[in-house]
Amino acid sequence: MTDCLFCKIARGEIPAGKVAESESCIAFRDISPQAPVHVLVIPRAHYASLNEVPDGTVLAAMGDLARQVAQSEGLAKGYRCVINTGGDGGQTVGHLHMHVLGGRRLKWPPG
Ligand code: 5GP
Ligand code: ZN
Repeated sequence: MTDCLFCKIARGEIPAGKVAESESCIAFRDISPQAPVHVLVIPRAHYASLNEVPDGTVLAAMGDLARQVAQSEGLAKGYRCVINTGGDGGQTVGHLHMHVLGGRRLKWPPG
């Protein structure tokens, strides 16, 4: 996926505030943070959404990096991981990503 925004970030072609990385995933700060800590965890490989993921391997890798980010960002009091999927889910970028939000008390349910 040559012209996918998050593929370009994953390849380092567009600058992003990278906070962590693993063999298969990278984590970087959301450009429009909705909480004091708002990091996106993405697989380096392109999947348009959760619906295109073949099995749980990629999700395990994303979860592992999200937990690492939560620790390095000091989110000992808690945090939230979100994967918006499709239009009704609020997905606006067509490359699988997990939001890691924290640093304040988050409301539930989402609007
Ligand atoms: P979605 O709405 O698809 O679940 O989340 C997409 C997220 O990507 C949004 O929170 C948005 O602020 C973030 N985003 C969009 N474009 C960029 C960008 O160029 N750089 C970074 N770091 N985040 C972006
Ligand atoms: Zn992509």
